[in-house]
Amino acid sequence: MPEQWIYLDGEFVPPEKAVISVFDHGLLYGDGVFEGIRAYNGRVFRLDQHLDRLYCSARAINLTIPMSKEQMRDRVVETIRRNGLRDAYVRLVVTRGKGDLGLDPVKCPVPTVFIIAGGIQIYPPELYEKGLRVVTLATRRNIVDALSPRIKSLNYLNNILGKLEANQANVEEGLMLTREGYVAEGTSDNVFIVGDGVVATPDLHLGVLAGITRGAVLEIAAAQSIPTEETTLTLFDVYNADECFLTGTAAELVPVVEVDGRRIGEGRPGPITKRLLHAFRELTRSEGVPI
Ligand code: PMP
Repeated sequence: MPEQWIYLDGEFVPPEKAVISVFDHGLLYGDGVFEGIRAYNGRVFRLDQHLDRLYCSARAINLTIPMSKEQMRDRVVETIRRNGLRDAYVRLVVTRGKGDLGLDPVKCPVPTVFIIAGGIQIYPPELYEKGLRVVTLATRRNIVDALSPRIKSLNYLNNILGKLEANQANVEEGLMLTREGYVAEGTSDNVFIVGDGVVATPDLHLGVLAGITRGAVLEIAAAQSIPTEETTLTLFDVYNADECFLTGTAAELVPVVEVDGRRIGEGRPGPITKRLLHAFRELTRSEGVPI
């Protein structure tokens, strides 16, 4: 077994020493923020965008991350380097820190920071060829005015309830709707459709995470002169789309071929999806912060 080193509060420690207190409010209340970041071929993909999102999430919950973005950037890169990885999935977590049993964050003076560099594969490779089946979930996405889905917080129960439903339905992912019934996102990915040659995805104002992969795909499409739209989508739009796919750091870009028992397009990954997937893979291997 190769050694693994975890960054925890200023030190690199082996996994058995990478432990945090049961009084940490990240654990007691899901009070904290995180990022899932990926490195390909010796470069960290869109690291600055991930850090910007992390610091925005932290600001939204009034959590002061105890280091600058530049220091955090160095620590992420150093964690991957220490683990001898060139391709990696990195989990970066900042919690409110240790407090007492009450929920008041004022009692938590020092945030906890940890970084784990490992691997991830959420779908088997053949699903990228064949496409996924998804269902619409009864669990609605958190409403913006209660807990904004723009905050990538440690409180993922909304998504987990959705994932439990998808498991129950024996499909790989599910679509979550907004309270109003518009299409929001998957439990851990953004959703796109292609119709009449236009690539469309729910607007951020509807209450979805501003996915880094989502942003990259919108850029790639624009660079290839494929029209894009950030808009309001209904299930009707999805059922009648020519193509559908999901995006996320872990999932990358994965085609969807069936939604609620309706075949999407020809029932196999469509030409624009394939083109974007190919271009996304090229991009991940060609840009990024060197490790
Ligand atoms: N939506 C949700 C709810 C997620 O958890 C994720 C994964 N971070 C995404 C979308 C995709 O975001 P990204 O492309 O930044 O990984």
